[in-house]
Amino acid sequence: MFTNDHPDSNAAIVIGAGLGGLAAAMRLGAKGYAVTVLDRLDSPGGRGSSITQDGHRFDLGPTIITVPQVYENLWRACGRDFHKDISLRPMDPFYEVRWPDGSKFTARQDTDAMLAEVARLSPGDLAGYKRFLKDSEACYKVGFEGMVAKPMNRIMDTVKVLPEFARLRADRSILGLAKARVKDARLRMALSFHPLFIGGDPRKVTSIYSLVAYLEKTYGVHYAMGGVQAIANAMVKVIHGQGGTVRQNVEVDEVLIENGAAKGVSLTDGTVIHAPLVVSNADAGHTYQRLLRNHPRKRWTDAKLKSRRWSMGLFVWYFGTKGTAQMWPDVGHHTITNAPRYEGLLRDIFIKGKLSDDMSLYIHRPGVTDPSVAPKGDDTFYVLSPVPHLGFDHAVDWQKERDIYKAKVMAEVEKTIPGFAERISTEMILTPEDFRDRYLSPNGSGFSIEPRILQSAYFRPHNISEEAKGLFLVGAGTHPGAGVPGVISSAEVLAKLVPDAAPRVALKVAAE
Ligand SMILES: Cc1cc2nc3c(=O)[nH]c(=O)nc-3n(C[C@H](O)[C@H](O)[C@H](O)COP(=O)(O)OP(=O)(O)OC[C@H]3O[C@@H](n4cnc5c(N)ncnc54)[C@H](O)[C@@H]3O)c2cc1C
Repeated sequence: MFTNDHPDSNAAIVIGAGLGGLAAAMRLGAKGYAVTVLDRLDSPGGRGSSITQDGHRFDLGPTIITVPQVYENLWRACGRDFHKDISLRPMDPFYEVRWPDGSKFTARQDTDAMLAEVARLSPGDLAGYKRFLKDSEACYKVGFEGMVAKPMNRIMDTVKVLPEFARLRADRSILGLAKARVKDARLRMALSFHPLFIGGDPRKVTSIYSLVAYLEKTYGVHYAMGGVQAIANAMVKVIHGQGGTVRQNVEVDEVLIENGAAKGVSLTDGTVIHAPLVVSNADAGHTYQRLLRNHPRKRWTDAKLKSRRWSMGLFVWYFGTKGTAQMWPDVGHHTITNAPRYEGLLRDIFIKGKLSDDMSLYIHRPGVTDPSVAPKGDDTFYVLSPVPHLGFDHAVDWQKERDIYKAKVMAEVEKTIPGFAERISTEMILTPEDFRDRYLSPNGSGFSIEPRILQSAYFRPHNISEEAKGLFLVGAGTHPGAGVPGVISSAEVLAKLVPDAAPRVALKVAAE
């Protein structure tokens, strides 16, 4: 357990104003720390921030809000009501999945509606689908309720869940589970693709992640009005209300360590800020490789980090279209279009590191729910294609490939949104190189270290650093992992590892 051995200071520094970092600052503020958040970007939220261009608000990353109780609990810990600050809109349907043969699967909260969808696609798979739902619930109880917000830095915490993991066949991948339950190839995809949203290869990620089906069905899929940026902005307000500070446009160069304990940070402009408690929301790889570069490391050496399997990269094309708000009525808020290949494409992305000509896409059209994303009558979109990260030999050179690949994506999107390209009024693109340079994400990966079973829980970089006393980690690269509920839960874990700040004024009075 960390104990603050600096009786004169209840200062805490959080490196990074991603959603994990902001949640950590809120939790520490609630515990009485004087928190300073430092982030190199010009607005808070990290991957959950937005850029407004020519009247279009591009929500850069997360679009799907699940398990609202994670946010409610965070706000409650700070004496606040989440729903007073943020308006969540439930999605119905949740999303639509499409295949090249013209078939579709519409995911909804209502179980009967889902059963009807399965029966329509593949009547013979109804019984298997019902079994999958039962699997999903059991996995939720063990994997989400039992692990997500609990510290996993001691091997015994992970060992304790092994019997349950064995019972649930956690050794099997989520695609393996889908194959065991249903025969239809399209259904297998629709039941197993969710780990892609947190950077995992469905052929390799444990079947425990089938918990997402239960979690969506039970708590719904939501959109935050104003985008996830509105959540980040509301978090900053809570931090300010606690007396904390959030500084943008400042980059941390190094975590300062003396006698094995964190003493503060130095910034790239040479400024030094002291604090006995430092929380890094920068990627775990960046934290150890860059910010602790002058400190000998026992566990997270450069070689160990290099040997991790990293989540895939992302090619994300954001664009606004003129006068199209009433067009394409069959294209809803969330659409997933599939390439003819599923497993082959995953192998290209995750194993071979090859940029394929075919692609599966996620199309985000938030104006369906939130007209504030575009000027009146116009539309705002983003199209996301999972691509290899930059850590492979012969990594994709995006300076060369960007426009060539964009043309391929355009041709694919035309099949879903015909005529969109000639109506584009403004656009921007992020490639894995931008993820590397903007978020300082190792290998330009979208979601940090891949959530494979041997890279999860105890085997992931711990929330309490193995390398220095007083240093803690939150965010996608640590336990429990990527996704907004994950990174916000990492801050809940932090709060369990850090004691309340000592009541300084009372201490001083007592000393006098
Ligand atoms: C395109 C996309 C779509 C997604 N969709 C969803 C979704 O629908 N639902 C969902 O739940 N999740 C989704 N995710 C995943 C989710 O967005 C991320 O897992 C989560 O936001 C990561 O949060 P984080 O706290 O780890 O930090 P990040 O967002 O990575 O933020 C880290 C911050 O640290 C800052 N930083 C790094 N190094 C330094 C330094 N040295 N000095 C100062 N600052 C530094 C960076 O500037 C950044 O602001 C999506 C992600 C992407 C990219």
